Amino acid sequence: MHFTKNNLKIVFTALFLVINVFGQESQKIFSVAQYKSDKQCAISFTFDDGLEEHYTLVFPKLEELGFKATFWVNGNTINEGESGRMKEKPRTTWNQLKKMAQKGHEISNHGWTHKQLTRCTPEEMRYEIEYNDSVIEAKIGIKPITFCYPNNSKNSKVIEAASKNRVGTRIEQFQRGGKSTPEILNAKIDTILKNYQWYATMIHGISYGYDAFKGVSILWNHLDQVKALEDEIWVGTFRDISAYTKEQQSIQLKLKQQGEKWIIVPNLPLDKKLFNVPLTMIVNKEILSNCSVKQQGKKIKTSNLPDKILFDFDPYGGEIIVKGK
Ligand SMILES: [Zn+2]
Repeated sequence: MHFTKNNLKIVFTALFLVINVFGQESQKIFSVAQYKSDKQCAISFTFDDGLEEHYTLVFPKLEELGFKATFWVNGNTINEGESGRMKEKPRTTWNQLKKMAQKGHEISNHGWTHKQLTRCTPEEMRYEIEYNDSVIEAKIGIKPITFCYPNNSKNSKVIEAASKNRVGTRIEQFQRGGKSTPEILNAKIDTILKNYQWYATMIHGISYGYDAFKGVSILWNHLDQVKALEDEIWVGTFRDISAYTKEQQSIQLKLKQQGEKWIIVPNLPLDKKLFNVPLTMIVNKEILSNCSVKQQGKKIKTSNLPDKILFDFDPYGGEIIVKGK
């Protein structure tokens, strides 16, 4: 390459941009955490097919730990208990699912009849997805805004149809059940901690039935282990973590400084009806060691930790005023 005047100009411009970007990074006073409460990684425990054991065994255990999970159901098999045609693998009832939803668990769509969507006509596919949505909404009172593909079978057309008006669909899953050993489960925790990842499980049978665990204690011990790491792992519904991560990737912050006061104007160009999970702001303590926060005149709770200050804010709630020292 010949160093012509023009070439040099390009090199210097590039150099200036690189310095500028790094400069901004190191001095960034506010940033939105990758996960809620700036945890290092996330897990959505998700259970497939609405099996009765998800209510009788899993639900009480989750409540004891304070974890919220996601349950994917096929509307046409719910209420098929001991006497029903699903005798071999009885399902939950709508009342049981409603109780779980009232405690904050997510009851969501797994297709009306568990039909493989890649084999459906566009009309059949629409029915499988939309009819199940409407029945779940009528029975539970909350319309699903996520989706789980029956048999994990999908292609671009199926994904497009199932993603309409939703915060996310389960594209990848970590299967847990008959083949799960404590070693495999622990290794997965190590991986997500190391790589700042989020994953969703696929769990069917608990003590019996399809892909059940070798012993229920394998699952319980694993949940206890995750609980012990709660400061690092965000355990949340598929709905909440899907929404949070998309919001985090899309949020724009406008920043103004007036003496000891900072004004942050958040702008989230997403559908407010779907994406409305509060986001966590990280305040760089090297710049601001202490602060008080208000959004639209209302005081916001802050957590002042040794290395950072955190607060949750409404991404549509308008101006945030941070007064600091
Ligand atoms: Zn299924």
